Amino acid sequence: MNRNINEHKKAWRNILVYIEYHDRKVHPISYQLIGKAYELASSIGYNVCGIVIGKDVALSKQQLQNYPLKSVFLYEADEYFKADLYEKILSNCICEMKPSVVLIGGTLEGRSLAPNVAVTFRTGLTADCTALYLRDADLVQIRPAFGGNIMAQIVTTDTRPQIATVRYNVMEPIEPTFDYETEFIIKKVDKQIVSKIEILKTIPIEKKKGIAQQQILVVAGRGVKQKKDLAMLKELANLLGGELASTRGLVERGWMASDRQIGISGQTVRPKLLIACGVSGSVQFMAGIGNVDNIIAINTDQDAKIFNIAHHSICGDLHEIIPQLIRCFLDASGDKHI
Ligand SMILES: Cc1cc2nc3c(=O)[nH]c(=O)nc-3n(C[C@H](O)[C@H](O)[C@H](O)COP(=O)(O)OP(=O)(O)OC[C@H]3O[C@@H](n4cnc5c(N)ncnc54)[C@H](O)[C@@H]3O)c2cc1C
Repeated sequence: MNRNINEHKKAWRNILVYIEYHDRKVHPISYQLIGKAYELASSIGYNVCGIVIGKDVALSKQQLQNYPLKSVFLYEADEYFKADLYEKILSNCICEMKPSVVLIGGTLEGRSLAPNVAVTFRTGLTADCTALYLRDADLVQIRPAFGGNIMAQIVTTDTRPQIATVRYNVMEPIEPTFDYETEFIIKKVDKQIVSKIEILKTIPIEKKKGIAQQQILVVAGRGVKQKKDLAMLKELANLLGGELASTRGLVERGWMASDRQIGISGQTVRPKLLIACGVSGSVQFMAGIGNVDNIIAINTDQDAKIFNIAHHSICGDLHEIIPQLIRCFLDASGDKHI
């Protein structure tokens, strides 16, 4: 039995990245997946390949040049994501390529696609991974479990492919600095593959950047005394061209929406500038902080953990310091503060 399993596993090699493609643009999470896939593949002598499904896929070539991709399979399909259609295309590609690992973004699209593919192959799927590494050819998939109380390590021992969705912004995006001759292969979608989903009407919605996409974040913690004090933090965020985010503390108080929460049970962010106001720096909060160029922390407690990761520490009351920062900013920009 074990011999059969090992033979089966050996037949599956390399890593396939599902490259998400909307409005003729590669989704930023794909570069994070390519980076992780390359790191994993290099450790075991695998190659990294990509698959793009969507409208005008040929236009993705330019956006995928100079990345460490051996081949990219391009499937021209409907403009809009249809879970059944995309699943069949991806599954066909997997059948042909036999990748040991398939990485998919933990986005709305990825979360819909990945389970369908996993069912088709009767294989394991670990959703929303925050770390990945290879132990021999087995992918160790790490993700918070039981509400973030433990970090589970999950391995798909007997079946292939090993499928993981990866949390947005957790992995470092890779830069296009590779002297690679990627082979772009245009694939025909099998005529037998048709979607049962019919799009009757589309309603454009205003595209808003979530906190995960922001370059500047002002983060409110429980050190903010009253809900109305959030207005000055919001003002600072606006002046800097950023957004307001928070710890779980303020979401629990009902002062902030849950999609603004940073952390293990919230979102992972990697802005260029993050100003943490009245945030202690709990492990669960820090788990949501990716690489940030500049962290400024304001806290009354000089021993607060947040100061350990801050590039600039201000020990003091945020209710005094934030208005001063706003004033400084307005003075510097020549505006009048009313
Ligand atoms: C399973 C689980 C999952 C969790 N997931 C998350 C998560 O995703 N995100 C998250 O954030 N938390 C999460 N938590 C909660 C986490 O453990 C902390 O309780 C939370 O991060 C604390 O938020 P805080 O820093 O705002 O509050 P506190 O820890 O209470 O810190 C407030 C800070 O404000 C400072 N302060 C007080 N007054 C002032 C003032 N006037 N001026 C300046 N500073 C002041 C204090 O010195 C203190 O350091 C989770 C907990 C569990 C158990």
